[in-house]
Amino acid sequence: MGETDKDDLISIIEEDDPEAIIPTILPMMPVRDVVIFTDMLLPLFVGREKSVNAIEESISKDRYLFVATQIDPGIENPKPEEIYQIGTVSRILRMLKLPDGRVKALVQGIAKARIAKYVRKRSLYRVKIEIIEEPESSTVDLEAEALMRNVREYSERILTLRGEYTNEVGSILTSIEDPGRLADLVASNLRLKIDEAQAIIEIIDPFERLKKVNNLLSHEVELSAMQAKIQSEVKDEISKSQKDYFLREQVRAIHKELGELDERTQEIDEYKTKIKRAKMSQDAKAEADKQLRRLEQMHPDSAESSVVRTYLDWMVELPWSKSTTDVIDIKKAKSVLDKDHYGLERIKDRILEYLSVRKLNPQSKGPILCFVGPPGVGKTSLGRAIANAMKRKFVRISLGGIRDEAEIRGHRRTYIGALPGRIIQGLKQAGSNNPVFMMDEIDKLGADFRGDPSSALLEALDPEQNFEFSDHYLNLSFDLSKVMFILTANISDTIPSALLDRMEVINLSGYTEDEKKTIAKTHLIPRQVKENGIKPRQIRFSDGAIVQVINEYTSEAGLRNLERELGTLCRKLARRIAEGAKGPFQVTRQSLEKYLGPPKYYPEMDKEHSQVGLSTGLAWTQVGGEVLYVEASMINGKGEMILTGQLGEVMQESARAALSYARANIDLFKVKDEIFDNRDIHIHVPAGAIPKDGPSAGIAMATALISALTERPVNKDVAMTGEITLRGRVLPIGGLKEKALGALRAGINTVIIPEKNKRDLVEIPKNVKRKLTFVPVRNMDEVLAIALESAPPKKAKAPKAKKKPAGKARS
Ligand code: ADP
Repeated sequence: MGETDKDDLISIIEEDDPEAIIPTILPMMPVRDVVIFTDMLLPLFVGREKSVNAIEESISKDRYLFVATQIDPGIENPKPEEIYQIGTVSRILRMLKLPDGRVKALVQGIAKARIAKYVRKRSLYRVKIEIIEEPESSTVDLEAEALMRNVREYSERILTLRGEYTNEVGSILTSIEDPGRLADLVASNLRLKIDEAQAIIEIIDPFERLKKVNNLLSHEVELSAMQAKIQSEVKDEISKSQKDYFLREQVRAIHKELGELDERTQEIDEYKTKIKRAKMSQDAKAEADKQLRRLEQMHPDSAESSVVRTYLDWMVELPWSKSTTDVIDIKKAKSVLDKDHYGLERIKDRILEYLSVRKLNPQSKGPILCFVGPPGVGKTSLGRAIANAMKRKFVRISLGGIRDEAEIRGHRRTYIGALPGRIIQGLKQAGSNNPVFMMDEIDKLGADFRGDPSSALLEALDPEQNFEFSDHYLNLSFDLSKVMFILTANISDTIPSALLDRMEVINLSGYTEDEKKTIAKTHLIPRQVKENGIKPRQIRFSDGAIVQVINEYTSEAGLRNLERELGTLCRKLARRIAEGAKGPFQVTRQSLEKYLGPPKYYPEMDKEHSQVGLSTGLAWTQVGGEVLYVEASMINGKGEMILTGQLGEVMQESARAALSYARANIDLFKVKDEIFDNRDIHIHVPAGAIPKDGPSAGIAMATALISALTERPVNKDVAMTGEITLRGRVLPIGGLKEKALGALRAGINTVIIPEKNKRDLVEIPKNVKRKLTFVPVRNMDEVLAIALESAPPKKAKAPKAKKKPAGKARS
C-alpha cells in the first residue's frame, strides 16, 4: 500500500466523492516501475513533461487520471504501443508542485479500465477508456473461501518472516471478504516484478486472479523461508568461528600459565629464530618482524595469514648473507675447463683472464660475459665449469619469451598467488648470494604493455645499482653485487642494445666435422656410456660410424643432437646387455641403421649436377651457418620480376639490384635485352615457409639470374656470400666463420667471399681452410668467372629442396 507524507503537501484536495461518475475520456500518465491496483494508494514523483501536463489537466477538472504501466521502464518517452493497455483509473488525492517543475502526487486506484483509443498524443496523452466490470459473485462458495483463507495465511507467514507483520495488518487481511479485492491488496504488497503484476491485473475473473496470487504466494513463502534459513546458518557459522577463536585463545592462555607452548606460539617462535638466523639486512629484518607481529594477531586459519606465512618463508630462506668462499686457482681452473671442453682455446683464455683479475682484485666489477652462439656449442657447460672452478653455486634461468617485467621483478603481494621474480627465485635455489647466475636466451626477451623486462634486467646487472635490486614481492631491495652473471644468446642482433652495451660478447660459432668427431670420442661417448650403465670395454665405436652419425643423423652447428643420437645408441645397447648379450659391441657404419633407423640427412643429395639457374648462397641463422639455394627461371611474360620464398624487404631489394646489374651489363653476357620483352624472371628461394632476410645473398641471386639468362650452369661445388651494388661491386658481410662451417657441412669446396672479408679468414680454423678454398672477389665479373661453367647444360632437373631448421634466416 502506498504511503504519503502529509506535511510535504501544500495543496490538499478535498476527499473523494463516491458517487462521482468517471468520464470516458481521461488524461493518461504512463508509469515506469509500478502497477497500480484498485484501492491502492500510491505516492508518485512526476517529472516527465507529458505526465506533468496530464496531472495538471486532471487537477483542473475532476482529478481523474488514467494510470498505465509502460512495458519497458527504460524508455523515456514511450509510444502508445509501448504502454500496457489495461491500467487503473485513479484519482489524485493530494499534490505538490516542487520548485524544479516536478510534481509530487498521491493517487488512489479507483477502477480497472482498458484503453480503447488514444485521443491525443502530443503534449500529453488523452485516452478513451472502457471500464472493466468484474463479475461479482454474491455468495462466496466453499472453494473460494478456502482459497482466501490460504492466501491470508500465506500472507501472514511472509510478513512474519520479513518481520513486517503487525496486528493491524492481520485485521485488514481478515476484514476483506471479496476475493478480487483480496487478490489486489496482496498482489500490490508482494513486491512483484512488473510483468508479473501486470499479468495479475489483466486477469478479470476475481477467483482466477486470487488463484494466481495464491501460486505466487506459495513460491514466495518457499523463497523467504530459504532466505531466512541461509541467514541463520551464516550467523551460526560466524558465531561458531568466533567461539572457536575465543576457546583457542583461552587454551593459549592456559598453556602459557602452565609454561607449555601451544602450536601457534611454537610457530611464531620458530619464525623468530629463523629470522635471526637469516641475518637479513636491517630493512628486511624490520619488515619481517612487522609481518610476524601481524601474523601473531591474525586468525591462524584465515586466508590472509597464509599469505603472510608464504612471505615469511621466502624471507627466511633467502641467502641474505650466505656466501660461498671463492677459491681461485688459475692452474686448477684451466684444468677444469680443459677437462670438460675440447678446443675453444681463445674462449678459455678469456675466461681464465677474467678469473685472474677477480683473484687479484676481488672487488673488481669486471664486464658481464655474454656467450653468443648456436645451440649445443657449450655455452651452458662453460658456465658450469666456471662455477666449478671457483667453487661457486651455479643457477640458470631462461629469459626466452618473457614479456612481463613482473617475471623478473616479481608481482606485488596484493596479487593472489604472487611470487618473487626469477632473479630472487634463482638466488633462493642457489642458497648463496654469490652464485654463477646464468641467464639464457637474452636475445629472445620481449617487451609490451606490461612493462619492459630489459630495464628490470639492467638494474639487476648494472654494478652501479644492483647492490639494491628491488623485487616487488619482497618489497625490499636485495644486494646482487656479489652475483656473477653470465648471459647467453643465439645471435647478438636481437639483444636489447642497452644490455649489449654493458656486456662483453664472446662468440662460439660451432664445430667442424673433425672437432665434433674428437669431442664425441673424448667427451660425449664416454659420458653417454657411463650414464647408460655400460662398461667402457663393452662398446667400441668406429671412426666411420661417428662421422656418419655427424653427417647423416644430425645437421647442426653444435652438439646437442649428436649427443642425443649417441645416447640413443648407448641406450639400445644397454638394453641388449641387460637382456643377457655379452658383447663387446662394435658400432660400425653398417650397424648404425639397425640402431638409429635410416639416415635423416643425405649430404650428397644436393650435389648431383651443376644446374642452370641454381646457385648456392650462405646464410647465418640462429642455429649456425647454412647453405641457401637460389633458383632463377625465365618464363613467358612481359619483363617482370617475380620473387617467392618469403623474402624480407632487404632481400627483395638485393634481388632488384641484381636484376638491374644484369640488364645494365647485358652485352657482356651475349644476350639481347629484347629477351625481356616477352619473358618474366622468377627468383625463388626454397624452404619457403622460413622467412629470410639480409643483404648477403645478393651475389648468389645475381649469379642464379645470369645463369638463367645465359643458360650457363652454376658450379655445384661453389657457394658464395656477398652484397651486390648496382655497379656489380661486392660488399662485405658478417658471420663468415659460421657460414664457412655451414658450407663445409653441405659438401661445398669453394667459397666466394667479398675481398673486404679477407681479414676474417684468420678466425677460420685451419682444418676448415684445408678443406675449403676461399676466393676473395671485388666484383661480379670475378664471381661469374668462378661460379659459372661454360659447358652446355646437361639435361636440367628440378632442384631439390633441402631440409632446413626453423627460425629466421639472415643471409
Ligand atoms: P649450449 O648451452 O650452448 O646450448 P651445452 O652447454 O648444453 O650447449 O652443450 C651441449 C653439449 O655439448 C653438452 O653436453 C656439452 O658438455 C657438450 N659440449 C659442448 N661443447 C663442448 C666442447 N668443446 N667439448 C666437450 N663437450 C662439449
